[in-house]
Amino acid sequence: MLRLPDDRSAGRGSVLIGLIGAGIAESRTPAMHEAAALAAGFSLVYRRLDLDLGPDLPLQELLELADWMGFDGLNVTYPCKQAVLPFLDELSENARAVGAVNTVVLRDGRRFGHNTDIWGFTEAFRDELPDVPRTRVLQLGAGGAGSAVAFGLLSEGVGELRLFDPDRARAELLAREMAELGKGAEIVVVEDAGEAAEGCDGVVNASPVGMQKMPGMPLPAAAIPADAWVVDVVYFPIETEFLATARARGCRVMGGGGMALWQAVRAFELFTGEKPDRRAMREAFARASRLMAGAEE
Ligand code: NAD
Repeated sequence: MLRLPDDRSAGRGSVLIGLIGAGIAESRTPAMHEAAALAAGFSLVYRRLDLDLGPDLPLQELLELADWMGFDGLNVTYPCKQAVLPFLDELSENARAVGAVNTVVLRDGRRFGHNTDIWGFTEAFRDELPDVPRTRVLQLGAGGAGSAVAFGLLSEGVGELRLFDPDRARAELLAREMAELGKGAEIVVVEDAGEAAEGCDGVVNASPVGMQKMPGMPLPAAAIPADAWVVDVVYFPIETEFLATARARGCRVMGGGGMALWQAVRAFELFTGEKPDRRAMREAFARASRLMAGAEE
């Protein structure tokens, strides 16, 4: 764990964190980390290293630069979650299992990769949908978020996981990786999401469909089982059309905000060795969301 000086009020223990990814201007993660540090009484600066705006450097060189500039840690998002793996010294068990990293702790010249998306999804699921039935669950989307969600669902005891992705090869790859975990669940790649939803206790959208920039529904309204619980990991907007439709059909729902919050909570712990004030992070998330929504209008 990062060792911070005891007397942080003297300003000697500042922390520098970055987010590497493309199109990350609207990420709420910087605001959450800075608010948590403020609440804890030390200084943390969180910078976006946006690949769409920055110098055209290979990821390896970017990491070397971050080391050299004294960054204490990095969050990593699309399109780098898998690409970063070859440049890390150690991987947590979860990150190795899903082959994706969203948090890199930089310490003593070494790089430690973690996947806090898994923890984020699982904590949010336990918090918001405790005790829901989980015999059969349909998951839409088998990309970066999808692998964390599938791992989380299997860890939470889902009996049969039905995976749909228009890119069938991605769904098949994820199915193989999840089968290797040996959690005892049946994992089925499905061709028709609407048909596969029938008889499911839960439906999870882990695809980008419904994002501000990709409006629409990942499943037709009529295919959402009325007695199912529904999760949407999309968090911009917080209330997607899919979530609103499921709610109107009487489903219990969980949006993407909880997962986004909890992944940041765990990353903050890994970066600083401190448990953050979750309320401060939640408020920062909400504030940043309001600001960004306002900016879009
Ligand atoms: P990705 O590009 O890695 O994967 C998306 C996958 O969805 C692809 O395999 C694609 O083929 C598939 N897909 C596209 N249309 C589909 C459809 N109609 N039905 C089923 N699958 C479909 O993207 P990602 O990183 O996995 O991100 C997906 C979404 O999850 C984004 O909206 C992202 O913002 C969100 N996300 C949320 C959190 C959170 O904390 N709440 C964390 C990570 C990602």
